[in-house]
Amino acid sequence: MHQGLIADIAAAGLLPHPTHDSVRTILVSPLHHSEGPSADSLARLVDELDQALCACPAVADLSGRTIIALDNGSGDVCYERPDLGAVAQPNGSWMILLAAAPTPLTCAQNHLVEILAAAAQYYAEFPRQQWRMVDEEQCRETILMQLREHYSRQLTELKDADVSLPPRFQPTAGITADTVVATIPFGRMTAEAAQELAGFGYSVRFTPWHSVAIYGVSAAARDDLCTALTRLGMSVDPRHPANWISACGGQPGCRRAHADVRGDAWQQMHSSDYQPGVRIHYVGCARRCGHPNAQHWERLATAQGEYVETLMDADGRTPVTSGGHQLHEL
Ligand code: SF4
Repeated sequence: MHQGLIADIAAAGLLPHPTHDSVRTILVSPLHHSEGPSADSLARLVDELDQALCACPAVADLSGRTIIALDNGSGDVCYERPDLGAVAQPNGSWMILLAAAPTPLTCAQNHLVEILAAAAQYYAEFPRQQWRMVDEEQCRETILMQLREHYSRQLTELKDADVSLPPRFQPTAGITADTVVATIPFGRMTAEAAQELAGFGYSVRFTPWHSVAIYGVSAAARDDLCTALTRLGMSVDPRHPANWISACGGQPGCRRAHADVRGDAWQQMHSSDYQPGVRIHYVGCARRCGHPNAQHWERLATAQGEYVETLMDADGRTPVTSGGHQLHEL
């Protein structure tokens, strides 16, 4: 590859970290929350946490499936089953999350990065057998004990009755103040669309829900932007089915797939019998890649040329109802 191109990519910060790239999945609330920290302080926290993680040799050993979430109190990314994370509290402190659940531990914002980096290190040092902390027996309890032992001065303990997450909130497409959220079907965007989006000159952030948040859009510029986003295959309609219908990669890209699940999901998106708000995830095999972290109807393609539909829990593995029923021939 041309050395100049490599240098440009590196200067843009797009090269993977040589040793720690697998632990840099940090989800952050994309929309402003009136009782939470400012967008700037949230962005600073993400940078500082990323630097602290990359400076810790032990955490390089963690799996690429590790998810860290910083929720500004909206109740959005804290529900994405993070291994580690924190939720901003109305009093300015942060509640620590471990294994996709709240803990009684809170700390001031100026201690948050060191506490989360320490928790990540304890997680890395735990004799792990599984990919995710939520599946690792005794891991959460062990990390809680270590944090209490080493960071008692920085941490405050909540009463059990006060340990809870804010109500769940998942941003759908739409316009709030000067922010436009556009859904991207299946989270897939062409290079041309990405270039055009960048050319609009707005600050943007991609969300974990197949959408992009575009900041600083004036009322005067809004209509033109929404028209352009629609032309690029996105939607700002909060009732657009792409807010709730998703699919794994499927055929032809995945060898395990029994169907072109995205093609079938696309048809469902444009079918008149779809009810907005019904979450459906199409999968080409029982690995169930990319399932939403919320209760959803799974449509699982089988080798027999059918889809089996089952209501699944947020973990994507546990049926809420037993069995399923065939929907249609592939
Ligand atoms: S769920 Fe199966 S078919 Fe779909 S992307 Fe994953 S491995 Fe491939």
